[in-house]
Amino acid sequence: MKKNIKSLKNLPDEKGYYGSFGGRFVPPQLEKPLQEIEKEYLIAKKDPAFQKEYLDLLTNYAGRPSPLYFAKNLTKKLGGAKIYLKREDLNHTGAHKINHCIGEALLAKRMGKTKLLAETGAGQHGVALATAAALLGLKCEIHMGSIDIVKQHPNVIRMKLLGAKVVEVNTGGKCLKDAVDSAFTKFMDEYQTTFFAIGSVVGPHPYPMMVRDFQSIVGKEAKEQILKMENRLPDYIIGCVGGGSNAIGLFNEFLDDPVKLIGVEPAGKGSAVGQHAATITYGSEGIIHGMKTIVLQDEKGQPNPVHSIASGLDYPGVGPIHAYLKDIGRVNYTSVSDDETIEAFLELSKVEGIIPALESSHAVAEAIKLAPTLDKNKIIIVNLSGRGDKDIDYVAKLLKI
Ligand SMILES: *Cc1c(COP(=O)(O)O)cnc(C)c1O
Repeated sequence: MKKNIKSLKNLPDEKGYYGSFGGRFVPPQLEKPLQEIEKEYLIAKKDPAFQKEYLDLLTNYAGRPSPLYFAKNLTKKLGGAKIYLKREDLNHTGAHKINHCIGEALLAKRMGKTKLLAETGAGQHGVALATAAALLGLKCEIHMGSIDIVKQHPNVIRMKLLGAKVVEVNTGGKCLKDAVDSAFTKFMDEYQTTFFAIGSVVGPHPYPMMVRDFQSIVGKEAKEQILKMENRLPDYIIGCVGGGSNAIGLFNEFLDDPVKLIGVEPAGKGSAVGQHAATITYGSEGIIHGMKTIVLQDEKGQPNPVHSIASGLDYPGVGPIHAYLKDIGRVNYTSVSDDETIEAFLELSKVEGIIPALESSHAVAEAIKLAPTLDKNKIIIVNLSGRGDKDIDYVAKLLKI
């Protein structure tokens, strides 16, 4: 009998499947351009020159490695497990997204493309991609729902300053899902010269794999750092899950280790349709944006409206790798409400002097619940995926401060 001790770090299979999830569900004319991206990426992945350039830019431009910070005050206040924060908020542009944007931009250049194209919700991916485009001398076009354009005005200005063209999307709910649809359509017209740079571990193969690889630097660093600081592995790792790139970025290096992994979804204002974006918690198997995964959908398979206080988590699908890790029970997925998120946002700001992104505050909230239930010798690492500067106006309005 053949033993099948495959590492979870080496997913997906050659067709882009994670168990029964993933794959490539696209119109026939996109099949070939995506195959080309896959082929070129697999070569680049093994090319030392490509990896060297990628790591060099992450180090000297984005500011990696990001610190693994022992949150002494928060730990003391909660009186349980030790809490460490992986400080992705300290990267250039203020979040983890720069990691995969630099990777995707380098690949685009390697393939001789002259333009980067993407969707954005809150504008975080758009800003990070426009930054990478400016750095590497590529054109950049970002599709964004008109509602998000109004809500996230500072990021629209940033993108424009960075030289990107922002395309307003007025179809459907005028939010992230519609921006993805619009960018996909544009890609079909322009794939000869343009590289579609998806902003999370979502979409058709090879994107979930590629973005996971570019983000896995987060977990590689964290493992080295915690072994150096504590001389052992952590007991728990927590990350918020929108599409799932920051979470898998931190989880990936620990998938084969005896470490408990927790993905936190946005429970929003409640379990009714349209009040949350907790895809794994409430969704069912379906197809969205070129991948088979878990989807929040109606009986006809149309995506449901979603809500989260954190725009970056406001998505009715999830990366196929997370659907699979849920299926095999390797990761425990839970959810945190808008109110708990705001509390965690305020708590970390006051107690540690770190204003976290509302997305990241979901993970912090889960740590705040978990730590006091654990022994003092236990260790939790939380992915602080981004900084909260972008959220301060919203929070100020909400709390009337
Ligand atoms: C975009 C974003 C997220 C959500 O995306 P994932 O792919 O789930 O990581 C989380 N945190 C921050 C700060 C973001 O900008």
